[in-house]
Amino acid sequence: MRKLVELKKIRILSLHLVFYFFLIIHCMSFELNGSFTQGGLLIGKVSLGDIIYYNGKEIPTDETGEFMIGLERLHPSKGTIKIIKKNKEEIIRKLKIKQRKYKVQKINNLNKNKVTPPKEFYERIKKENMRIKKAKSADIKNSYYRAGFVIPTNGIITGVYGSQRILNGIPKRPHYGIDIANTLGTPILAPSDGVVVLVERDLYFSGGTVIISHGRGLTSSLLHLQEIIVEEGSFVEKGQKIGLMGDTGRATGSHLDWRMELRGIRIDPNLIIKTNNNNF
Ligand SMILES: [Zn+2]
Repeated sequence: MRKLVELKKIRILSLHLVFYFFLIIHCMSFELNGSFTQGGLLIGKVSLGDIIYYNGKEIPTDETGEFMIGLERLHPSKGTIKIIKKNKEEIIRKLKIKQRKYKVQKINNLNKNKVTPPKEFYERIKKENMRIKKAKSADIKNSYYRAGFVIPTNGIITGVYGSQRILNGIPKRPHYGIDIANTLGTPILAPSDGVVVLVERDLYFSGGTVIISHGRGLTSSLLHLQEIIVEEGSFVEKGQKIGLMGDTGRATGSHLDWRMELRGIRIDPNLIIKTNNNNF
């Protein structure tokens, strides 16, 4: 009799174990890849119909259940993903986000006009910023970024993501792109597949500018171009020539400034190239 009771106990215990095993497997059942660091981009996948929140904010998914999360420049060391399954079950995953140290450069005794643009340009800058914002929020439903990424030009890296300059004691906006310097006329390529959502030849800050949407709110901006050979609305393929390197706008020399953004969050293009082999 005692033996029978014990056997029953073992059976119940093992049933429990099997249950928890499957629960754990089930809970882990969403993919997440990318750079878990400030400025990083995470790409994940859930089942269709699941709803995802990152730090309390809903994250859109595509028709395959794929989603992207951008980690801003000063993202705190922790993040939380919450997934609500179709059956209302909740999955919570805590993320550890690597903190970075950014370069700060102080330059004093600069001509005032070099620190803040002269007043007569304010109206123009405001209009241009609105146009840029609108272009970046273009609703491109295809996940073109799946084609992967290439560095859009050759040269020497002269500027990195996140660094900040303090000019005459005034902290300026951080630098969000990577600067690649080379001679005037060096070919500039599309970093990935996408739709050209903006072509401007003379913006106040960035001069000849192309913005490509890689889909689902992920954009690349290519700045200071000397010549642009693509048109707004056209589709470009990864590695396709879109123009020539220049020094237009407020640039101190011939270089490309490549910036990336996901739904308003500036991310680091350098990390995209580094994680490119991780299937995006
Ligand atoms: Zn730059």
